[in-house]
Amino acid sequence: MDEAQGHVRDDPVDELREWLKDNWDPELTVGAWWERLGAAGWSSPMLPVDCYGRAMSRSDALRVQAAIAAHGALGPPQGLGLALAAPTIVAHGTRAQVDDYVRDIVTGQKGWCQLFSEPGAGSDLAGLSTRATRDGDVWIVNGQKVWTSGGQLADYGMLLARTNPSAPKHRGITWFVLDMHQRGVEVRPLREMTGSALFSEVFFTDAEARDAARIGDVDDGWRVANTTLHIERSGMGAGGDAPVRGALLARPGTVAGDLDKRAGDFVVRAATSSRTARSPAAPRSPAQIYIELARRFEKSSDPLVRQELVRLHVLREIIRLNTERHKAVRAAGGDIAGIANCSKLAMATIVRLQRDLGLQILGARGMLHAYDDDGRAVVAAQAGGAAAALATGQALSAQALPIFGGTDQIQRNIIGERTLGLPKEPGDLSHLPFSEMPKNS
Ligand SMILES: Cc1cc2nc3c(=O)[nH]c(=O)nc-3n(C[C@H](O)[C@H](O)[C@H](O)COP(=O)(O)OP(=O)(O)OC[C@H]3O[C@@H](n4cnc5c(N)ncnc54)[C@H](O)[C@@H]3O)c2cc1C
Repeated sequence: MDEAQGHVRDDPVDELREWLKDNWDPELTVGAWWERLGAAGWSSPMLPVDCYGRAMSRSDALRVQAAIAAHGALGPPQGLGLALAAPTIVAHGTRAQVDDYVRDIVTGQKGWCQLFSEPGAGSDLAGLSTRATRDGDVWIVNGQKVWTSGGQLADYGMLLARTNPSAPKHRGITWFVLDMHQRGVEVRPLREMTGSALFSEVFFTDAEARDAARIGDVDDGWRVANTTLHIERSGMGAGGDAPVRGALLARPGTVAGDLDKRAGDFVVRAATSSRTARSPAAPRSPAQIYIELARRFEKSSDPLVRQELVRLHVLREIIRLNTERHKAVRAAGGDIAGIANCSKLAMATIVRLQRDLGLQILGARGMLHAYDDDGRAVVAAQAGGAAAALATGQALSAQALPIFGGTDQIQRNIIGERTLGLPKEPGDLSHLPFSEMPKNS
């Protein structure tokens, strides 16, 4: 069906289509195009109008993305800046901070990473021990982060650091913007079993965060971080099983080196990639992708495969309907407690189901995996096409979503304690000053 059908004339997406006719030019550099797109409010249209957005609903924002793609233009600068930092800074930052940081995010000029998890603080994030100590107008940062997606490509980091060890663990944390390009910040990429190195370890040795780059009050970073985490979980439940974070085509920021390249080249690559190499987990029609895989490998009449295909379709539909229900409740000024956690859990179930279904269809071929383009071509030829290679790749990366943004167990704990009002886990020591707590408690 034509995109424009069924929408009334004052549909804001019509305005975008007109704008694209006047503004999209494949000869622009990526940086120049993103400058136009972001300054006009189309990069992150859910942000408020005075914060470089257009105050649109999530569903309209998705239609904006679809309209940009349908026009054949390069999409907005995806990444953790746009997804997490911008809405957090809009919610808790000052006007000056919105202008300093959010503008560069929506125009793709800066890349961001999330410096939350540490070797001893993942699920128990409030147990983090990276220290920030005030020295006049700056804070001196020492410690270590891990699992930092895109850390090696980031200009800025969303840093959670302990600023008051004498306070209970949730009350002595502060949220800072950290400049990643400084002495005292060392980024070491980590290679995963997929073959990619999407994460890093990040070490701080007397690194500096300006007090002007503090988002929210001193020691009130847990509240700010909860905004970041809530946005992260909501995004995942709304279809966040798309490519693992960091695996994007045109990358924002000064480090990746894409800003000076021709924007039109990335559209060609995106179109090619969506035809030949779309992840089997892409949210548009995942069951269909597995149905086609089953047909190709003559498994479409296997009753066990059929049963799982239907299960995948039904789970997807439940998530879609829940998202619609949540949208309707929010439009009426309400909310549904725990829905972001439930949706994230459901997506984790779906990526596991897709992993198992893909491997069930592929059989022994599913054991083949390659770590570079040449190898991928060989594996695709041996294993029966790019779709088969992608199903295997998806199976390997399926471990990610059930962990990041809070593991399945943590989602269940949150739903139990905060939504259902069940008693907290026994032995809770979170009232103690952080400095008096046993390590990892
Ligand atoms: C793909 C990916 C990308 C990521 N990107 C980032 C990033 O950019 N920035 C960032 O800061 N972090 C990132 N992370 C880290 C992620 O947030 C943590 O891995 C996650 O919070 C879990 O922490 P952990 O790995 O330390 O596991 P742990 O907290 O050590 O948990 C180990 C196991 O114990 C279980 N467990 C722990 N506590 C409880 C409990 N109270 N009750 C029941 N079970 C429990 C967990 O569910 C898990 O199964 C990423 C992780 C992944 C997989």
